[in-house]
Amino acid sequence: ALTDRLSRLVKTMRGQARITESNVQDMLREVRMALLEADVALPVVRDFIARVKEKALGAEVVGSLTPGQALVGIVNKELAATMGEVDPATGAVKPPADINLAAQPPAVILMAGLQGAGKTTTTAKLAKHLIEKRKKKVLTVSADVYRPAAIEQLKTVSKQAGAEWFPSTATDKPVAIATAALDHARRHYFDVLLVDTAGRLAIDEALMKEIAELHAAVKPVETLFVVDAMQGQDAINTAKAFKEALPLTGIVLTKTDGDSRGGAALSVRQITGAPIKFAGVSEKIDGLEVFDAQRHAGRVLGMGDIVALVEEVQKGVDVAAAQKLADKLKSGDNFDLNDFLAQISQMKKMGGLSGLMDKLPTQMTGGKAANIGQADMDRAERDVRRMEGIINSMTPLERRKPELLKATRKRRIAAGAGVQVQDVNRLLNQFDQMQGMMKKMKGGGLMKMMKRMGG
Ligand code: GDP
Ligand code: MG
Repeated sequence: ALTDRLSRLVKTMRGQARITESNVQDMLREVRMALLEADVALPVVRDFIARVKEKALGAEVVGSLTPGQALVGIVNKELAATMGEVDPATGAVKPPADINLAAQPPAVILMAGLQGAGKTTTTAKLAKHLIEKRKKKVLTVSADVYRPAAIEQLKTVSKQAGAEWFPSTATDKPVAIATAALDHARRHYFDVLLVDTAGRLAIDEALMKEIAELHAAVKPVETLFVVDAMQGQDAINTAKAFKEALPLTGIVLTKTDGDSRGGAALSVRQITGAPIKFAGVSEKIDGLEVFDAQRHAGRVLGMGDIVALVEEVQKGVDVAAAQKLADKLKSGDNFDLNDFLAQISQMKKMGGLSGLMDKLPTQMTGGKAANIGQADMDRAERDVRRMEGIINSMTPLERRKPELLKATRKRRIAAGAGVQVQDVNRLLNQFDQMQGMMKKMKGGGLMKMMKRMGG
């Protein structure tokens, strides 16, 4: 599979300190494939890759990461920044704004999108959200005059949402229905009017004209484009057509509970420029969540595991210390118990062995991750804590030259750490082995070592 190839590349690029013109090409080709496989439209992919390349070239590779992993981190960050919105103050992706209701009540929300995209369902979900979270009095109306069943459907789901529903008849004109509902909402002091509309299976001139007229008649404060996350490459054309017809203010991405990678989000966001506000996560009336660009990015790329690992390394590891350590590892000879202790404490920052093993893709752990039970993990974590206690009980000199340790000192150390002398001896043996391993792998990194220690 594609992600396997990408993972393989992530591994083969190990040992190179920077992302360069030459090592980035193969990686970017795979990222490009990953995005196309996730159904991101080609022109959007091209743009995106160009931006990533610019950001990646010459980027420092932090700590124990390979350039490949670092690149996946950059791609993921750029994906999240593109699908979401970056807070200029912090540089982090911020959650989208809730539905804008800043209008003379009733605030009108117009729902647009292809047939089957999930407009009617989302209308009810939003009604429930506005009633429960924003304490608003909400009216719904259907302007889908082509399918009487659609009007009934809105009635049913509105009731489930606890919203009032304004009756409409299939023989009326959409604009007449919507203005009647607006008038009713005004006279009965509704805060919000949600206008559900008709869709077509494909974009069609008449439909676009009709919804533009509706928009002019009801002057919505929000015009939401409802789009199916499972829609493939064609999402780009749909988004273009709706953007031309209407000033879109937001996007709702539905059916994210399906098994698609949801690349439509990237295309639609880039084409419309409108924020993705919500994601539909089930058919049920409460199946609506605030859109999480970070989470969705991991899914589009299909490399959530590596992404999570990269993030932990970036936030948990002291870069300077990691670099110093890496330098020592390369020489192998002067790796002492102080470094061993530093390794252990870095490992703890990364969420310990169990957290780490969970995150490593099986390709990187040789398929063993799944076979390591919780009991093994717990034992490994206990061992690590014990080792730390023992090393802490040594003097700095002893940590640098453990071969100096005599039986009496070992007893003192054991007593200080609350362990047996044999535990101290075991630690010294492990340290010996690790020092030998270091020399062999010549700076192969933290990951390998932790694998050994965990397994
Ligand atoms: P409309 O034609 O745009 O009004 O689309 P509908 O609201 O009638 O939805 C079409 C189908 O998609 C229905 O069967 C819905 O139950 C389903 N649907 C809508 N949103 C979601 C969602 O987020 N998750 C899932 N699983 N199904 C959804
Ligand atoms: Mg409908």
